[in-house]
Amino acid sequence: MSRNIYFTPGPSELYFTVEDHIKQALKEQFPSQSHRGNSFKKCFQSTVENLRELLNVPSNYHILFTSSATEIWERIIQNCVEHQSVHLVNGAFSQRFYQTSVDLGKDSEKIACAEGSCASWKDIDPEHANELIAFTHNETSTGAAQPIEDIYAAREKFPDALIAVDVVSSIPYVNLDLDRVDTIYFSVQKSFGLPAGLGVWLVNDRCMEKANALQQKGLKLGTYHSLPSLVKQAGSYQTPETPNMLGIYLLDKVSRDMLQKGLDQIRKETEYKSTLLYYTIEEHASFKPFVKNSKFRSQTVVVAETEIDSQEVVEQLSSKGLIVGKGYGKFKEQHIRIANFATHSKEQIEMLVDQLNRIG
Ligand SMILES: *Cc1c(COP(=O)(O)O)cnc(C)c1O
Repeated sequence: MSRNIYFTPGPSELYFTVEDHIKQALKEQFPSQSHRGNSFKKCFQSTVENLRELLNVPSNYHILFTSSATEIWERIIQNCVEHQSVHLVNGAFSQRFYQTSVDLGKDSEKIACAEGSCASWKDIDPEHANELIAFTHNETSTGAAQPIEDIYAAREKFPDALIAVDVVSSIPYVNLDLDRVDTIYFSVQKSFGLPAGLGVWLVNDRCMEKANALQQKGLKLGTYHSLPSLVKQAGSYQTPETPNMLGIYLLDKVSRDMLQKGLDQIRKETEYKSTLLYYTIEEHASFKPFVKNSKFRSQTVVVAETEIDSQEVVEQLSSKGLIVGKGYGKFKEQHIRIANFATHSKEQIEMLVDQLNRIG
């Protein structure tokens, strides 16, 4: 059977070392060992240390594990918001975070924008910005990326609010100064090129203080995955529940591989590949970039409008073993989405570009 290459924006192509790491984990019988034992605790510690180094995480941050980024949306609202959060909604994923806060009974505010663009922090009502402002750095549904300067500007303007940033589909490429935000989070099946089922939540002490204050007021922060519970267990390199041990093991190994490659190199390659992709769709007779304003264009999820039905494009590429995503939601037929993650090599993107050029 010939192998496909997955350019889908999550799950995506596995990082090229993952297969060997899985074999090694099975050889060590890692998944059978206790999640309270030394081998797991060592693995937890090593994962956290690798991520600290790779992502330049300040010492006042905790690194916690959940089941998904979707879970982290709920945890952030439960632990860091009493009445109201503000959400810059650039598409379907940021909308779902906003909806989570509404479902949890908060009187939250949504700042919307045209799809393929980014909402403006200037539209935030200062009266609503006392607790938490939520950004989605890379809106995977539309390929719009919020400029980092917008996030820093909101921090300056609203110093009392906690700033939360969804970096699910842009980490480790995104170069965000964690001293100027309070919490970031991701799941591993996007750019890290790992099997799904693990969320990574980075939270600083300000978030912890907020959670403690809410608890003192008598609010319920949740149960086993409340922020205090996660932080307490992480202090001894454990999780409250039996976690996705294999997922944490693989994250340890792949973050080490990425450290060895170097984040500078990963970023340079990402920009080389995205330049090639955007050039290809701009020059193509049947495609054009969906995000018109280049300052909002994602480097890690490239979305093209297509004159040919997306199904046909997807099928033509897939007959060559190249799997790209269709449009998200209502754009299903009109768009194709191409992931340009750290897991995708230059050679793979070059192969894709060759085939894109034969379409139409
Ligand atoms: C995929 C995605 C999520 C949700 O991740 P899950 O692992 O499915 O919970 C959240 N935000 C963004 C921007 C995403 O791309």
